[in-house]
Amino acid sequence: MPERNIYLDHAATTALDARVLDAMLPYFTTEYGNASSIYTLGRHAMQAIDSAREQVADILGCRPTEVTFTGCGSESDNLAIKGMAFASQKKGNHLITSPIEHHAVLYTCQYLERFGFKTTYVPVDTYGCINPDDVGRAITDETILVSMMYANNEVGTIEPITEIGRICRTRKIPFHVDAVQPGGSLSLDVVELNADLLSLSAHKFYGPKGVGILYARQGMRLLPQLQGGSQERGKRAGTENVAGIVGAATALHLAYEDMPKVMPHIIALRDRLIAGLLTIPGSLLTGHPTDRLANNASFVFEGVEGESILLNLDLLGIAASTGSACTSGSVDPSHVLLAMHVPVELAHGSLRLTLGKDSTVEDVDTVVAVLPGIIEKLRQLR
Ligand code: PLP
Repeated sequence: MPERNIYLDHAATTALDARVLDAMLPYFTTEYGNASSIYTLGRHAMQAIDSAREQVADILGCRPTEVTFTGCGSESDNLAIKGMAFASQKKGNHLITSPIEHHAVLYTCQYLERFGFKTTYVPVDTYGCINPDDVGRAITDETILVSMMYANNEVGTIEPITEIGRICRTRKIPFHVDAVQPGGSLSLDVVELNADLLSLSAHKFYGPKGVGILYARQGMRLLPQLQGGSQERGKRAGTENVAGIVGAATALHLAYEDMPKVMPHIIALRDRLIAGLLTIPGSLLTGHPTDRLANNASFVFEGVEGESILLNLDLLGIAASTGSACTSGSVDPSHVLLAMHVPVELAHGSLRLTLGKDSTVEDVDTVVAVLPGIIEKLRQLR
């Protein structure tokens, strides 16, 4: 039994950084004003939001006016896709995305199909990679938006976003990037990425839960998805979550400041974990072998159920994840693995381990020591 709990699910969420909490605290206590109020307390709240917006814009290489704070990554995706689709109805009804997107994107496209929109899902290869030329070939006269993820949340594959963006830019099609997973670990320079819209979520980079960010390039017309006040330049009604916004901006800023120190540490742990677990017979790395997120080690194991692995790890105080979804009592294999042509049987045995800045060599070595026994036991039980 490990002496402390081992958290290897940083792709699901991260712990709030103590420095972020410190920055947020005044806005829960003394600085509780409503940013829309014109007296001093309100103006302090607005100043805090303004400087948070500048901090975010600095990381994204954009104008502060192009940054909107939302309630989560899902909301940013929804606002980008629905907002753009409903505002562009006169131009066309065609959307392009990929089958490995997060459900915040996939279900939003499906929802829009009820209103007459059509979606093309550009296929991925066995590593989960999108071919930019396939995106180019999918564009029609009716296309109003391309939405692609920067990096996959389950298998960690990093997509050729700059290239896809270049094609969209040439063809004058707005391009939305779901950057929720690589926020804090890959460059978010929207000019470099050729992104017109870009979604982030603060809880993925040691910020608070319940705060999303949407970059929308000047000139992008979005139909607001919440009606009410004129906060966030009319793009997102509702009294601002001042503490959350300050936390999100502080966390993003710190993530990029810490990056030169943190990234080599995480990459070394990831590679140690991958090398250690691939010695298990019947194991396979999922996702791209090199173009993958620094913190992602994901696998499939023959002849086991991912959920059973998770429960056994949990008994040892180790938190991990599978890509499977529980629907109506049965466990469906991950849509991401199926789109990558992983056989259904094998896709049932998926395991995702995602490292964080506080992960240690001992954490990795413990998992490498206990997992072979767990897998062997589960195989014998079948
Ligand atoms: N997009 C991706 C790629 C994600 O991984 C997630 C969350 O895991 C989301 C969107 C949704 O973000 P949130 O949990 O902040 O709604």
